[in-house]
Amino acid sequence: MRNGIYFCLLVAAFVLACLAAYWHGRRLRTRAQNAIDLRYQQLRFVLVIWSILFVLQVAIAFQRHGQPLLNKLAVPGWFALCFGIFLFLLLRTRRQLRSRPDFVQHKRKPLPQFFWQAVLILLPVAGLAGFGLYSLRQDRLLAEQEAHESGQILAQHLADAIGTEGAKQLRDYREACFGLHANRTADLGLSQWAGGAATESNAWQRIKEWQQANPEIDLAAQPPSDGSVKVSPESLLPQPPHWLAELNAEQRQLWQAAKQAEFSSHDDSAAMAAIQKFIESIPPKGARANADYLLLLAQTRGLATQPAVSQMADFSRAHWGSSSEPSDAGVPLGQLICYQALRRLPDGAGLPEGFVRYTTVSWMIEYCPSMFSPALIAETRRVLRGTAQEPYAGTLKAWWDANAVAREILDDFRDQHPTNTWDTASFWVNSRAGKFLLILGDRWNAPTNSVPPPPASYQYLMIPQTVVEKALAGALTRPEISLPPYAKAEFEIAGKEINLRQVQTRSNSNSPLPLIGQAAGTWKDLPLNLHAYPFRVRVSLASPEILYARQRQRTLLFGALIVASAVAAAMGLFAAWRSFRRQQELSELKTNFVSSVSHELRAPIASVRLMAENLERGKISEPAKQGEYFRFIVQECCRLSSLIENVLDFSRIEQGRKQYEFEPTNLVALVETTVKLMEPYAAEKGVRLETAFRLPPSAFRLELIVDGRAIQQALVNLIDNAVKHSPKGETVTVEIESRKQKAESRNSDCEVVCVSVADHGPGIPAAEHEKIFERFYRLGSELRRETQGVGIGLSVVKHIIVAHGGRVIVQSEPGKGSRFTIELPPKL
Ligand code: ADP
Repeated sequence: MRNGIYFCLLVAAFVLACLAAYWHGRRLRTRAQNAIDLRYQQLRFVLVIWSILFVLQVAIAFQRHGQPLLNKLAVPGWFALCFGIFLFLLLRTRRQLRSRPDFVQHKRKPLPQFFWQAVLILLPVAGLAGFGLYSLRQDRLLAEQEAHESGQILAQHLADAIGTEGAKQLRDYREACFGLHANRTADLGLSQWAGGAATESNAWQRIKEWQQANPEIDLAAQPPSDGSVKVSPESLLPQPPHWLAELNAEQRQLWQAAKQAEFSSHDDSAAMAAIQKFIESIPPKGARANADYLLLLAQTRGLATQPAVSQMADFSRAHWGSSSEPSDAGVPLGQLICYQALRRLPDGAGLPEGFVRYTTVSWMIEYCPSMFSPALIAETRRVLRGTAQEPYAGTLKAWWDANAVAREILDDFRDQHPTNTWDTASFWVNSRAGKFLLILGDRWNAPTNSVPPPPASYQYLMIPQTVVEKALAGALTRPEISLPPYAKAEFEIAGKEINLRQVQTRSNSNSPLPLIGQAAGTWKDLPLNLHAYPFRVRVSLASPEILYARQRQRTLLFGALIVASAVAAAMGLFAAWRSFRRQQELSELKTNFVSSVSHELRAPIASVRLMAENLERGKISEPAKQGEYFRFIVQECCRLSSLIENVLDFSRIEQGRKQYEFEPTNLVALVETTVKLMEPYAAEKGVRLETAFRLPPSAFRLELIVDGRAIQQALVNLIDNAVKHSPKGETVTVEIESRKQKAESRNSDCEVVCVSVADHGPGIPAAEHEKIFERFYRLGSELRRETQGVGIGLSVVKHIIVAHGGRVIVQSEPGKGSRFTIELPPKL
């Protein structure tokens, strides 16, 4: 769970606690005996709420991982402090309360009986839920730990694979690139393979294979992979000729005059004379070379192309040592001589033999690179176009372009990394041609006595980022590498991170992803490897959703299970509580029943016994009185046997043993007999019994298939109730009628027979109409026992009538009497 949820829970708990405190406070005010008692009770309540919040806080604090213990305990600490203060106030108030003279110790209310059963039901559920949540949490921690372990192993495997497989691919690139450049240099006559032509053709083969395997990288356009870089940059810009400053005043004059004669007058012999004069003044080496160059121009100007060009080629070879001397415009003299020669040749004339290899064009371009080089290359291409030597011009151009890219990258490198940070290390360079990894070897100074010493330089290896990325991708294909879908792997070298595989992360925040493994490695067997190329591999958790997917599923499942079992427990608890309440009520009713039965039996038995004793002792001698006594005894015995019959019937009904004997019975006769039977009892109570037969004459012989005895018992019970509840002098009417009623099953009308007993008694409230049919149920207080009875009469009636397929209807209102109607189903 996140901290936010905890916080919300805490706030919700706090708000609930405040509401509860407010509500409880209002109740306390009415219950408290005095002001101190009120304060004591309020403090007690606050303390209870505070302890709940305190426990909640501690739980939350220990849920937070990765926090120092002190931080964890800060908030609970405050809670504990407040708890202490409240406790202190509570104890003080209790002391004050007890010291009052009017203090009365309240007895604790006993816990409700059902309390412990509820505790026994809820406690295991709560325990299970708590344990379940705890194990889910452990489950998550385990998943986290597993991810860390496998992340660490993965990082190590990645580092090993990149160190070997990745390095192999870089080696292949370097070999192909180096071979290409060496082949070009050899083709231009600038160097030779140690193995000669065979080595060169092997190199071409390897280059071809590499290019076929990596079609997305144009090897020909890549800068040479190996080389050296000087601390101070080399400049292609024209350099001011140092020799100009070394001329004395006279020589400077002579030089001006020579130039004037050469370029302004068209008189070659005058020009040659002026130049000769300058040469005679013994100028410094650079000035002499320039003078010779002017002399050559003057000598060849009048010649035909071929002799002129071959003279220039001879001159170039003869003045080889001075080829890097700058002209007074700062362009290397060697390049100018070549240019002058090529200029005179027409398109496609081909280079004269001496200019093709070694000492000529490419040589001048390699050793004296300048802004003028592209112009010289363009001129070479023009002259070679369409000739057998044309590839030479192409190679020269490609060679120059590749070197130009390298020069640009090194310039950018100087811009992006100040020279004082250079060390034997790797660097990333952003350049127009892309991003390159530049690995510097050791710093070295050429062993020379020259003053000032030449600038320090470093051997380097230059690899395009795309090649590095491809090498990394190649390493990932190793069988032991399998990146789990939740992990993101990064490779880091020279402070730059390359994603080994991009994983979609859902979080938009820029906070770093949690690291689950990292390892260091080096590329093995690459040049300059005296100091290896250290890199790091980091594996981080990019998608916790995927890692914890199964765990979350389990949490949801288990959560649902906990909620379901809590709901089931609550429902079970509720059902148990209801049945507990019913049992309690029933046992109360049964107790009442027993006392009612005893009461009902005691009075008649006592009076029967008294009368029988009087008769036995001969105390009653008058025959009339004796007759009355005997009648009374018989009547009481009838009532007792009816009561016992009722109780027995009820017990049979309860046990499911009650059996009915259905036979054709004349209902009118049955009602008449029953009324007759009850008349003496009614008369004794001062109540008149009336019968009313609202039947067609034909129906007087109406025979229904019923259990006559049972129906009579039901009628007796109803008449008994009516007589019992009727005031003296009132009439109880027993009616029989047949009614038309819509049959439920059939769509036609059918006839039902209704026997009703109506009285003018106190009536029954509508809310009690259902309840009076329940067993043992009696209206009014059992202590007062306003009427006789044990509370089973109506339930027996209902059972009998329902067994006959009929129903009992009660119509009654307080003060308006009651009418109980037995509805018997239509005769078959
Ligand atoms: P009892 O043996 O107490 O009469 P019954 O099951 O026959 O038990 O009746 C249940 C309750 O219904 C009685 O306690 C009485 O309060 C009420 N009762 C039944 N019949 C009448 C009636 N005719 N008038 C008023 N109350 C009645």
